[in-house]
Amino acid sequence: MDSPTVLYVEDNPTNFRLVERLLTKDGFRVLHARDGLEGIQKAVGEKAGLDLILMDINLPEMDGYETTSRLRSLPGFERIPILAVTVNTLQGDRKRSLAAGCDGFIPKPIDVATFSSEVRKYLAGVRETLPVEEENHYLREHNLKLVERLEDSLRGLQASQRHTRQSQKMASVGEMAAGLLHEIKNPLSSIYFLAEYLLTATGDEEKKGQYLERIVDNVARIQELSKRLGSFVRPAEESKGFVDVGTSIEEVLALTEHELERGGVTVRRELAPDLPPIWAQEGQFHHVFMNFIRNALHAVSGPAPDGAARAAPVIRVRAAATAERDFVTVEVADNGPGVPEALRSRVFEPFFSTKERGEGMGLGLYITKEVVESLGGRIFVGTAPEGGALFRVQLPAAPASGAILR
Ligand code: MN
Repeated sequence: MDSPTVLYVEDNPTNFRLVERLLTKDGFRVLHARDGLEGIQKAVGEKAGLDLILMDINLPEMDGYETTSRLRSLPGFERIPILAVTVNTLQGDRKRSLAAGCDGFIPKPIDVATFSSEVRKYLAGVRETLPVEEENHYLREHNLKLVERLEDSLRGLQASQRHTRQSQKMASVGEMAAGLLHEIKNPLSSIYFLAEYLLTATGDEEKKGQYLERIVDNVARIQELSKRLGSFVRPAEESKGFVDVGTSIEEVLALTEHELERGGVTVRRELAPDLPPIWAQEGQFHHVFMNFIRNALHAVSGPAPDGAARAAPVIRVRAAATAERDFVTVEVADNGPGVPEALRSRVFEPFFSTKERGEGMGLGLYITKEVVESLGGRIFVGTAPEGGALFRVQLPAAPASGAILR
């Protein structure tokens, strides 16, 4: 060990440079990590080549105690010397370090004259230990702190998940609004021309009556469209109720009609006429089915691989009840490129996406799965008989009316 390798986990660059200078002069090779996570990463990367770790205790995010505990749990790091290097502010810091898995403690500010030989002592095999009862005490304290921090992280994660879900929803609302705008343009211009005619028309009361009727029809159409968009924007406050899956499917298909038509997509419906309702917020089912349709649309719209001719795009929508009528199965199948077997277990992971950068955050299916599971359902991906992807959900049918307690 002529030129031992030392990893120094330290967030203060001045401290690092001082130690680096001292140890390099004495023949060490010194690596630097700025926080606990980087420390673990570099340690694992070096593994066999690493002879000793110097650990600052006050580190951002994950502190030196936590980093040490984590390192000790990794195979190959059971015995590597880890020295805590920190300002000795609190009584018990030394013991706390030992309980967390360190082998020694070097107080800051370091003693320039002895630092290097101090480190060599531990390389040569010196280990400090704690009496068992003291170790137990500090371990308990250490564990408690770990759990508290885990709780904090979970709370933060939950908050950001809620936020992400909301932004994801707003993104699809934006897409839909663009589609609706297009659909509203036609009835609006009809209304405009009919009204203009009525302003100048004389006589022919029957014709005027017909025009007025057409105006009312067009206004009703616009009202219907805005109501649909509203049901997507508000589902958070919406309460649960009986949702007719067949009707909801038709609503989503109507909302995406324009995009489906533009893509030349044939939609095949296999909707059983006697589906039992499910118990959900209407917006939840809309969300799930809309996601499937959007993915299918994306799958059949892309260029065919290897420039081969693409088959005419087809999306098949199937809905049926299970034999016992306790679940409703909804399937969306397409004849796009499909989901390779190897990726199937991953498509429901957060931030996993096969789309081009910037095309999607990779949260659509993750959130969809969460929604499905919150309804007591299951989600599945496989291969469609059409050759593309097949997404299927099974949602519990609503109990017969009267049996619902929530
Ligand atoms: Mn620090």
